[in-house]
Amino acid sequence: MQQFEFIAPSSLAEVLELLERHGDGCRVVAGGTDIMPALRQGRLSCVARLVDIRRRQELRGIRTTKDGLWIGAATTHSEVVQNAAVRERWALLAEACGRIGSKQIRNLATVGGNVANASPAADSVPALLCLDARISLLSRRGKRELLLQSYLAERKRNAPAELVEGFTLPFPLANTRSKFVKVARRQAMAISRLSLAVALHLDGEVIDFVRIVPGAMLAVPQHLERVEEYMVGRELTEEVGAEAARLTTGVVTAITGLRPSFKYKLTVLEGLVGQVFAQFRDGGTGHG
Ligand SMILES: Cc1cc2nc3c(=O)[nH]c(=O)nc-3n(C[C@H](O)[C@H](O)[C@H](O)COP(=O)(O)OP(=O)(O)OC[C@H]3O[C@@H](n4cnc5c(N)ncnc54)[C@H](O)[C@@H]3O)c2cc1C
Repeated sequence: MQQFEFIAPSSLAEVLELLERHGDGCRVVAGGTDIMPALRQGRLSCVARLVDIRRRQELRGIRTTKDGLWIGAATTHSEVVQNAAVRERWALLAEACGRIGSKQIRNLATVGGNVANASPAADSVPALLCLDARISLLSRRGKRELLLQSYLAERKRNAPAELVEGFTLPFPLANTRSKFVKVARRQAMAISRLSLAVALHLDGEVIDFVRIVPGAMLAVPQHLERVEEYMVGRELTEEVGAEAARLTTGVVTAITGLRPSFKYKLTVLEGLVGQVFAQFRDGGTGHG
């Protein structure tokens, strides 16, 4: 394994100063479950310094604010899964974080690391996008907050050396239904081959809010606006659910083109979208 300096800064200001001073040669480490294997495999040969952020209290914790739910970037998936407020009102995120790796991994791995690592298969990302999460970023230039969707698109163009501070999730409408589905080779310890997060709200019989986000299919994970636009204003009938499932595969293909794995994935995705809406029609997945 390559040699690197391990630094445990005593303040957040020091973390930001190190990131600015050393640029690409310096990375923060939270749980280490992505970055340590990458270093061991020689995939980050430019990195000479690791900056430990695990104990930085400013980046930890979960609390409700007037704007919704705040989750610090260095909060572990286990902490998300166990949090009562998350389980009650943002259950989709608890469901997704609960499907990451094994319990040992979830006890170490953080939400910020899952997002910052920029894997198209990161399991918390479809759920965060479904919940219209905003991300806050810190650097020596100050703080900025933007929609997670915009951050992911921006990152692909120009990965900025910023520290993820945390995420804000607005309060969902009461009685929003949601579901996270993961397809992997094994149930535990396997990266998603395909995942799906869906959230839906009905005003009476009519859909007034819906988000559909496939995971491990698009280079930049995103919610499928064209399918959502088709659904809003309609009733959640069997036909509308089936049409939404068909449209989903069309929209995914239009964004990314046909890939070898899509022969399998598109069929599975269409089936999953149809199943989730059937479950919602039957009154399911209001998470109690
Ligand atoms: C056995 C195993 C199973 C796994 N299973 C899954 C799975 O099922 N689903 C899944 O999605 N992932 C899985 N993973 C991947 C990994 O556990 C997650 O992506 C995890 O959330 C990463 O968080 P971390 O704190 O360990 O990140 P780290 O490894 O510490 O960091 C990852 C990257 O993000 C950067 N980073 C971390 N925190 C910040 C921050 N606050 N600001 C800016 N950059 C930051 C680091 O510099 C690094 O580049 C698995 C990993 C292993 C080893």
